[in-house]
Amino acid sequence: MLSRLKCLRLAPHRTNVLRAQRARTNCKSVSTFDDMLSGAKPKEANVAQLEVPHIIQQQEYRYNEGKLYHGFQCERVERIPDFDLTSYTLRHEGTGTELWHIDRNDTNNVFSINFRTTPFDSTGLPHILEHLALCGSKNYPVRDPFFKMLNRSVATFMNAMTGPDYTLYPFSTMNEVDFRNLQRIYLDAVFNPNLAHLDFLQEGWRLENKDLHNRESELVIKGVVYNEMKGAFSENSQVFGQNLLNNILPDHTYGHVSGGNPLEIPKLTHTDLIEFHRKYYHPSNARIYSYGSFDLTKTLELIDKEYLSLRTRIDNSYSRIPLQPRWSQPRHVHISSRLDNMGAAFDRQNQIAIALLMCDMTNIQETFELNVLSEILIRGPNSAFYKSLIEPNFSGGYNQSTGYSADTKDTAFVVGLQDLRVEDFKKFNDLFSQTLCKAMEEGFESQHVESILHNLELSLKHQSPHFGNALLFNSTALWNHDGDVVSNLRVSDMIARLRTCLRQNKNYFQEKMNTYFVNNSHKLTLTMSPDELYEENFKQAELEMLKQKTNALDNEKLEKIYQNGLKLDASQKAAPNTNLLPCLTLSDVKKPPNWPKLRIQTIQEVQTQICEVPTNEITYLKCLFNITGLSEDEVKLVPLFCNIINDMGTSMHDFREFDKLVLSKTAGIDFKLNFVENVEDAKSYRLSLMMTTHALDKNVPDMFSLCQDLLRNFKLDDTDRLKMLIENYISSISIGIASSGHLYAMLGAAALVSNASKLKSLLSGVDHIDFMKNFVQKNNTTDIRDQLKSIGTKVFSKSNLRVAINSSESYLPTAVDHLKNFLETLPTLEKTIESSEITLLHPSCQQYLMNIPVNYCAKAFFAVPYLHKDHPTLRVLAKLVSAKYLLPVVREQNGAYGAGAKISSDGIFSFYSYRDPHSTKTLEAFEKTYEWLQSESKQIDQQALFEAKLGVLQQLDSPIAPGNIGIDYFLYEVSQDMFVKYRSRMLSITVDELHDVIERYFKENSKNYGKCILGPANENLELETGQKWNIIS
Ligand SMILES: [Zn+2]
Repeated sequence: MLSRLKCLRLAPHRTNVLRAQRARTNCKSVSTFDDMLSGAKPKEANVAQLEVPHIIQQQEYRYNEGKLYHGFQCERVERIPDFDLTSYTLRHEGTGTELWHIDRNDTNNVFSINFRTTPFDSTGLPHILEHLALCGSKNYPVRDPFFKMLNRSVATFMNAMTGPDYTLYPFSTMNEVDFRNLQRIYLDAVFNPNLAHLDFLQEGWRLENKDLHNRESELVIKGVVYNEMKGAFSENSQVFGQNLLNNILPDHTYGHVSGGNPLEIPKLTHTDLIEFHRKYYHPSNARIYSYGSFDLTKTLELIDKEYLSLRTRIDNSYSRIPLQPRWSQPRHVHISSRLDNMGAAFDRQNQIAIALLMCDMTNIQETFELNVLSEILIRGPNSAFYKSLIEPNFSGGYNQSTGYSADTKDTAFVVGLQDLRVEDFKKFNDLFSQTLCKAMEEGFESQHVESILHNLELSLKHQSPHFGNALLFNSTALWNHDGDVVSNLRVSDMIARLRTCLRQNKNYFQEKMNTYFVNNSHKLTLTMSPDELYEENFKQAELEMLKQKTNALDNEKLEKIYQNGLKLDASQKAAPNTNLLPCLTLSDVKKPPNWPKLRIQTIQEVQTQICEVPTNEITYLKCLFNITGLSEDEVKLVPLFCNIINDMGTSMHDFREFDKLVLSKTAGIDFKLNFVENVEDAKSYRLSLMMTTHALDKNVPDMFSLCQDLLRNFKLDDTDRLKMLIENYISSISIGIASSGHLYAMLGAAALVSNASKLKSLLSGVDHIDFMKNFVQKNNTTDIRDQLKSIGTKVFSKSNLRVAINSSESYLPTAVDHLKNFLETLPTLEKTIESSEITLLHPSCQQYLMNIPVNYCAKAFFAVPYLHKDHPTLRVLAKLVSAKYLLPVVREQNGAYGAGAKISSDGIFSFYSYRDPHSTKTLEAFEKTYEWLQSESKQIDQQALFEAKLGVLQQLDSPIAPGNIGIDYFLYEVSQDMFVKYRSRMLSITVDELHDVIERYFKENSKNYGKCILGPANENLELETGQKWNIIS
């Protein structure tokens, strides 16, 4: 289970996110590379090597096979043209540690140390060790250097994660000084961690007196991971995914919860943890990854000199994972879940999935082909399972576990439904078998197969700014099982090989299905139903465990617990000795990123933003329709509109045909609602609907004609289909609230500050779920269809349109010509109003009741918008308050998993907490910010200020994909000049200026603020806060 950072961009422990689902959820974006490489590929790729032209063999490589570099022998060098990279595999002679280096002309460099960690219980051992490793090491004996480094670096990614059988410590940065600094910290953290007992108590679990200073007060269980896991299992989809893994692969390490089952965590001892580290974090059990353009020699020298040369090699076979023995009979497991009060009705809140165990993941061509086959079976309206399971509309759509999962030694195919009735479990089972029979009989339509393969090929060309990270995350599981990660990158070869097989054997996929689907008795059916007593049962079990623990304590142990509580408290409050940690200097970060210039041109009376940038033969198109003129009732339906408009077909092509065409020519045509406040005065806002797509240059004419077809001829007549899509949409929006609760809490708090933010919450916050449920209850599908139709007719006109196009130098003129023709065909309607006024609201407080054991708290107030001179100062202050005040108090002392403050471009300043055992105590901490800033003004020195600035720079300078360059101007009208000014103003802020904004914005409570809690009922809420609360259940 994942750790540390509040906003995790890529999770190794993910259950497969299908592209079919991606189109349906507004908030979920998955990198295409990520999608594509979720499979794996062949060792016999030597065939492909032979085909490589001789000239490339002669190419000069930086490191040569057979040679020794700082104790590392270079074992394998390969050029991978698909991704324009060179792969170097090296092995340390002394310890056997493998180092995989990807040399690529990319400034966003990555480094990671991975270990194969295979727990044999559910105490969360590897997860707690992952936390502890980052709590101070031999060369950096600083409390929590990881969090401290977050503010002393310009990392584009810093994290640590625990998967089911591996732990990894990755970071990425574009700055070489930073890269070397972080490399030293990470290496020392994993190979020489302190693993101090007090840190174990803080991060893992501990018994503590409720009143720290009263030895007689009752004992409670605390701990960061303990709370984190309670929070993680608040999300039913997580519970389902975890149980699916544990039950389909029950016989070895996958039968346990690597992140930790909260009821098992307190069985873990500090000694177990140290022993686990000794065994599993040995260099012989480690794999090191480096990516990018920085000099590898320096990395090799450091690793060898400081760490590996001091150790000897051991046999690491103890951590290998055997294949799961196959079952002779299918199994069925039923589990219960929390009743989700924001989810579907009680009788529909069930889930079911069938999982079939597939091949060994190290068989990479087979894994690749099974992944493609799964996509063909599941994804989109042309797939067999979509037709049989989704279209009859007896559920809320595929569940989150659906897809081909290649994260474990044995891979698995999973298809499941969410939000269905128990009575329909049997129907699901019957349909599953019937679908397989039908597919076996009828085979697959070649145009459908081709559209899936085209999409794969297109994603090879698409450039992601986090390519190095994506490559690491997609290779980690395979690498962990000694799979051939290098050949696994030869995706074009794998596609070619598959195409050949399909050509030579018409029944190729049917034969695969016969082996893996029809004649496969390793089949698990997992069902899950809500239990109203779930939460209560958990509390009882927790109490029982606490009772057993405390009953076993004698006086001496009680005294020890009391003393440890005091010691931990004192150490948390002690001033940290951060000067031991390296830090960048101003000269390291002076230069702003250099982006290609934008050109603004009017084409067919439409303002068009043109960006010439190397895009690797892809053209990116964005169309932004201003929809501020819609009525409020209409606006509230736009999120739904965006979700279904590309799924209903057109008057030229029915939805199946249309989907096939779109996927065989483009990466998909997606719609999204945008909400933009005026960044100059925050007095008005604009709403717009953005259509985005991209295609290979050669397919650009088709891309435009498909867009034109959709915008002009969209068709919503099929009300049965519409009804199904609406119901699936409603099921999808209530997922993820518990895992991103802080975002929902901030939206909820901001909603109390201004009418614009209130509308925003209605469009994307918890309020949106409620609104949609009510709306669908009160309106029949025909009425909804008419309203959606009217939105499309009003919106898709060039009078309210702006366009952005990003393409490479050679193709751009042609792309613009096609754009001209496209715009010519769009209708001109009356221009509608451009923006609406913002009004501020009176202070208020609101709680959304949730049936979960943790809280998400937020407070928001209106400060100043982006272009105001105080905005950068407040942004720096938010970073400083997060690092110096909120993290130490709300996280370290009070046990929340995360906490922080931020200011957004609309001028709303917010505080938040994440997976928090407290609510009112945290809100009180938010209130005391000014007090802290006063009493600790000594802490606000040059260094603290500079660190906070680096924190802001991490966001400002984060890399942008070629297809997205210019997006800030396109959406927010923030020009590159404005950005550069903002950046240099931010870097020039002085301590005095900081004090000045503290006085002006924090001394008195703002006139416009809101507080919001997502969490369980608290009858003392008004008493404890002294304020009135609006409770929404
Ligand atoms: Zn964690």
